[in-house]
Amino acid sequence: MRKTGIFGGSFNPPHLGHKKLALTAADSLDLDRVIIMPAGIPPHKVPVAFAGAKDRTEMCRVMFRGDSRFEISTLEIERGNKSYTVDTLNILRRQFPDDEFYLITGSDMLETFTQWYKWEEILSLAYVCTAVREKSAKLDYSAFTDEQKKRFIPIEADPIEISSTEIRNALANGGDVSRYLDGGVLDYIKENGLYADRFPRYRRLVESKLDAERLNHSFGVSRAARKLALKYGADADKAELAGLLHDVMKNAPKEEQKSVIERGGHKLTAVELANSKVWHAMAGEAFLRLETDIDDAEILSAVRRHTTGAAGMSLLDKIVYIADFISEERDYPDVETVRALADESLEKAIIYTTTYTIRDLAGKGLPIHPDTVDCYNDILINLTEGEL
Ligand code: FE
Ligand code: FE
Repeated sequence: MRKTGIFGGSFNPPHLGHKKLALTAADSLDLDRVIIMPAGIPPHKVPVAFAGAKDRTEMCRVMFRGDSRFEISTLEIERGNKSYTVDTLNILRRQFPDDEFYLITGSDMLETFTQWYKWEEILSLAYVCTAVREKSAKLDYSAFTDEQKKRFIPIEADPIEISSTEIRNALANGGDVSRYLDGGVLDYIKENGLYADRFPRYRRLVESKLDAERLNHSFGVSRAARKLALKYGADADKAELAGLLHDVMKNAPKEEQKSVIERGGHKLTAVELANSKVWHAMAGEAFLRLETDIDDAEILSAVRRHTTGAAGMSLLDKIVYIADFISEERDYPDVETVRALADESLEKAIIYTTTYTIRDLAGKGLPIHPDTVDCYNDILINLTEGEL
């Protein structure tokens, strides 16, 4: 019978405490394999300077690279919101009916285990392996029957006293966390600029202006924009900041959006008046220019153009426009296509999205902003035939 360990967590980021526990469990229980299961995090629970699901998965991959016993599973991430352990176990049980499962958990698990959803069923599906400092450590099993007690296995693993929260805080403040992180994970964090609270003032600004879901989207777009900037050779900090700010006025009442657009010197056209969804981009630009110290023309332009696109977009304009389509909390039907295109060429991705937008609006009998048509034409004409 195959012995399969399951080790779940946010892994935000995965640290040496996780690694040590997983390795100790694998060795001491003689596991054939260990499935590392990064958790899905509900959108409203993703605070700033969190890494996204892709990055968390990748960091796990990096940390356990080279030991073939470890597999990374995106099962819970794909399910989106928080998964109950019992549901995950049931899925794995169906997938691998002949495996024996060992759920690997931290040392404080026993205290709260009877509050876990369907904990009795969990015990019937898997051995619950919990870290203890010493084998002789007294664990309080008083809440369990004799049969249930047999399902607990203590693993002797001197816990590394560090939490991901502390590591994130240290990283945001430039602290040294090299003692707590796998070298490859630390390199990954540095290369991708994760966990750095680079713009605390503007982060607080968007936190004050946006609801949780929009905020999560804005953080996602800022991360996606940073990645695209690194890939296509734009200023990564500017891209991240523009992404963070792009929807700053999205939750503002329509009247407020309209008034800041007018104060900014723009008179809404008939087409714009007929589609208030495009206002927040113009309002965002005007708000940032008039009410904050953002005066960078490239950032202002990227915010202004992020919804409609425009002819003659700069590299930064394109990056923020596409980041808005491919950020990782996005899940519309074609999102993977757009992500793949964006990986190839920003222009190809923009042709795809503007084509979609124009078709969609026309199909619904809605007016199309001339900037969107101009954007489409401009990029289409400038792409050589071979590129399409
Ligand atoms: Fe927007
Ligand atoms: Fe957006």
